[in-house]
Order: sequence, then C-alpha cells, then structure tokens
Amino acid sequence: MENTQGLYLVSTPIGNLEDISHRAVRILNSVDMIYCEDTRVSKKLLNHYQIKKQLLLYNDFSSELSRNKILSKLMEGKSVALISDAGTPLISDPGYKLVKLCRQKKIPIYTIPGPSALTSSVIISGLPTDKIYFLGFLPGTASKRKHELQKIKKLDATIVIFESAKKIHKTLNEIQNYFGDIEIVIAREMTKVFEEVITNKISNIISEINEKPIKGEMVILFNTSKLITHNVDFVEVENDIKKQINDLPVKQITNMIHMKYNLPKKMVYDLCLKSKKTK
Ligand code: SAM
Repeated sequence: MENTQGLYLVSTPIGNLEDISHRAVRILNSVDMIYCEDTRVSKKLLNHYQIKKQLLLYNDFSSELSRNKILSKLMEGKSVALISDAGTPLISDPGYKLVKLCRQKKIPIYTIPGPSALTSSVIISGLPTDKIYFLGFLPGTASKRKHELQKIKKLDATIVIFESAKKIHKTLNEIQNYFGDIEIVIAREMTKVFEEVITNKISNIISEINEKPIKGEMVILFNTSKLITHNVDFVEVENDIKKQINDLPVKQITNMIHMKYNLPKKMVYDLCLKSKKTK
C-alpha cells in the first residue's frame, strides 16, 4: 500500500529527534513530495535523517487553491506526505481541510502514527486517563475563552490545554477564577533536555512563575471529576434559591440551579425545601 498514490499523515518528534518510527522515515524517503508548515523547521528533521526530498509549504493560511493543487497532484497518482513542525499533523496543526477534501474525492489517506504532546502529556501527568477532553489552545477572545471554560465545568474528565509560555499566566488566572485554587499539572518541554512535570495548586504555580517566568512548550492538565461539587459556593447557591423560592415552582428552581452550578438535582431539591421551610 505504501509509496503508492495517497496522502500520508506522518507524525514527527515533539522534541527528541529519535522519536520517529522506521515507517515514518521510510515514507518520507519515498513519497514524491512533503508538505510542511515551515520549511526551515522541517529541514532540520530531514537533514538529521538524510532525507533528500522537496519540502513544500502547507499551513493554516493555505488557500483553497493550494489545496486543489495538492489534490490534482494526488489525482495524477502522486504520493504526498503531510507533516507539521512537531508531533501529529492536524492536532492543533494544519491539515483538516485537506484531509476532508481528500476524503470527499476518495483519495487514499494513510496515517503514520507517532508522538503527540496530547498523548504524552496525558500519560505522564498522573491524572485519570479514562476520559480525556482536549481543548487544544483556548480561543483568543475573552468571551470565547469564557464559553470554553464554562463548558468544562459540566464535564467529568481530564482536561488538556495547549499553551505558550507567553500566555500561561493569563490562562492559569482564568482557570483559577473558574475552578478555584485547584491542583493542576504542567507538562513542560517533554522529550527535551529540560523536561519537567509540575503538579501543584494553581496559586503556588502562579507565585513561582511570578518569581521566575516559565519557559518552553507546555501543556496544562487537570481533572474535573472531584471539582464538580467541591468548588461550589453553597452560600451563593442558597441565596440564589432564596431569591426565587416565593416566585417560582420548586421544580423549575431545581432545574435552573442544577444547570447553573452543576449540582445533583436531588441535592438542589432538598435545598429548595429547606429554604421554603425557613421562609
Ligand atoms: N501537533 C502537535 C502535537 O501533536 O503534539 C501539537 C502542535 S501545537 C501547535 C503546539 C503545542 O503543543 C505547544 O504550544 C505546546 O502546548 C504543545 N507541545 C508541543 N511540543 C511539546 C513539548 N515537547 N512539551 C510540552 N508541550 C508541547
């Protein structure tokens, strides 16, 4: 099947250049052309493995026209590899639109699996691995970030967020605002010389960053299963109930409060009854 027509999605190292499969090296050596995000970055990898192939640019800014150019090469019967700067293509990296187009046109697509900061950070974190929610990078605007964090509140999972050293402070503050001073994990510079996994309360990590800024590439992780009720301010919940108890049916208040604070319905119902009695 390999070296024949098709799009090859090839994973590359996330730091340590040895982390690449034999198959990935063989495919990169044999395809007709390799598309990458940044030719200077990928050149280093190709030089390391003495792969002499033409590198062409494909990134998030690539137009429909450039996708169609790749498609026409594939339709001519060419083999094309797609790589990103690091890790698995399409995971917070370009490629989705190209893969979608190739699927529509029934072009064969092959995955050449390998490293990703997503899987590495999850398995090294010490957090539960049964349910994982990958947020990628948080959006840029305040309202969209708020919306994303709001959604997490209702989940019972290990949350994975990609972040840069530049924005880590802001993001940690926002997570603290939403979830309180919870314990989080930062997986930093994985597979590189200064690899480090930090596990601590957010406030302690923020203080440390204030003393000495954190550098390199990093992933933030935390588990929400125990936070669902622990972070709720029950005085606030009771006040909320009190404000409505004379005006709305208990069932309606129960539903609203259950949704708002993500508390079990039975618990909210009992709080409503208590509030009614004390009125
Ligand atoms: N597609 C890539 C993958 O599968 O790993 C991810 C690309 S995304 C643009 C880059 C982000 O991944 C970084 O900002 C950081 O959050 C994370 N990352 C990549 N390499 C890392 C590393 N060695 N250690 C920690 N985080 C890393």
